[in-house]
Amino acid sequence: MSARHLDRSSEEWALAADAADPLADFRNEFHIPQHEGNDVAYFCGNSLGLLPRATHQAVIDELDHWARHAVEGHFNGKLPWMDYHEFVRDDLAALVGAQPGEVVAMNSLSVNLHLLMVSFYRPSAERPAILIEKSAFPSDRYAVEAQIRFHGFDPDQALIELEADEADGTLSEAAILRAIEAHGARVALVLLPGVQYLTGQAMDLASITRTAHAQGCVVGFDLAHAVGNLTLDLHDSGCDFAVWCSYKYLNSGPGAVAGAFVHERHATTTRPRFAGWWGHDKSTRFRMGPQFQPTPGADGWQLSNPPILALAPLRVSLEIFRRAGRKPLHEKSTALTGYLEWLITQRVADVLTVVTPTDRERRGCQLSLRVKGPRESGRTLFEHLQRNGIVVDWREPDVIRAAPTPLYNRHIDCLRLVEAVAQWRDAS
Ligand SMILES: *Cc1c(COP(=O)(O)O)cnc(C)c1O
Repeated sequence: MSARHLDRSSEEWALAADAADPLADFRNEFHIPQHEGNDVAYFCGNSLGLLPRATHQAVIDELDHWARHAVEGHFNGKLPWMDYHEFVRDDLAALVGAQPGEVVAMNSLSVNLHLLMVSFYRPSAERPAILIEKSAFPSDRYAVEAQIRFHGFDPDQALIELEADEADGTLSEAAILRAIEAHGARVALVLLPGVQYLTGQAMDLASITRTAHAQGCVVGFDLAHAVGNLTLDLHDSGCDFAVWCSYKYLNSGPGAVAGAFVHERHATTTRPRFAGWWGHDKSTRFRMGPQFQPTPGADGWQLSNPPILALAPLRVSLEIFRRAGRKPLHEKSTALTGYLEWLITQRVADVLTVVTPTDRERRGCQLSLRVKGPRESGRTLFEHLQRNGIVVDWREPDVIRAAPTPLYNRHIDCLRLVEAVAQWRDAS
């Protein structure tokens, strides 16, 4: 029987689509949490990605290496700790569309944001401002306010916040570019997300960068919800820097080592930076001289020797992304999220409004779903889903976020979600 002849909202169609999925086997590489003896339908990869099966052994291997070699572990074995951050570099660069020297895995996201603002937010009296979006993630907002104050400016004057201009709280491209042009002469730094965490809207990094550069602004992106989700081409986007975390779509575990991108044109910049010994030129680092000489490229922003036990999961995870491939992941992601959206509009449009843009170019895999009716009904729906082994997340006051990720989600998961919503509606 060919899937073509079946109703797309039937279980048979979903199972046939999953059987035809070229990436289907990747699901077996992950631990799927259980609910009453069955796999949960996990839609929270946007918040904490699932654990790859190979990660366990990779961490144990480093503990064993430590037990056996102690300090010599820095130099011995297949993966000597001294160079460990370099073992993730090529895969990381390929994933975000960068040159190897443009990326580094280090620290955590908010720390990297501060470190790169130290170099790339250089306000002056004529050009003191940072332009962000009004519903920026709180940590980003705290960080930019803190930087503005640190330089002796007042956020009331120097923080410009873009207001959503579309009905569901998204920003039109025209409004973003207009704001950059209107305020540009006063703006030192434009800092926007790759994917907005509440609405799931994806931004056009290249066009924002072009417009902001034409105004003389520096451009940085927070890719927390974009890395491992969108097909990124950071080098070609031309942006000056970017930062991201690795516990969301990158499946590298709670508090995982984050990442940073610094465009090649800044590889040997003389901008100020907060220096540490691991950012020092590798060839002379252990002469232990008093003069800081940065390693060219993103590596030069490192402070400390890297946490090996935390980098091992990132190495495993990036290797999975490499094997899956950018194009197959993009194709599956587009199909799967399109399927979930279609099911919602066909079956439960009276319960849920899709807030995320319908245009595939303007989103990744996450759909933000506004629950119609009073707030309590949204909460009860969310709790009903939890009781039925469907893991989504809840954002006040009325949004459920569901991210079918192409590495481990299936069409049947999407169908289970929508059927559970329909069941809740019919029972209430
Ligand atoms: C998840 C997320 C963070 C979290 O910051 P950490 O430093 O990793 O705790 C910050 N900003 C954005 C936009 C996020 O989505």
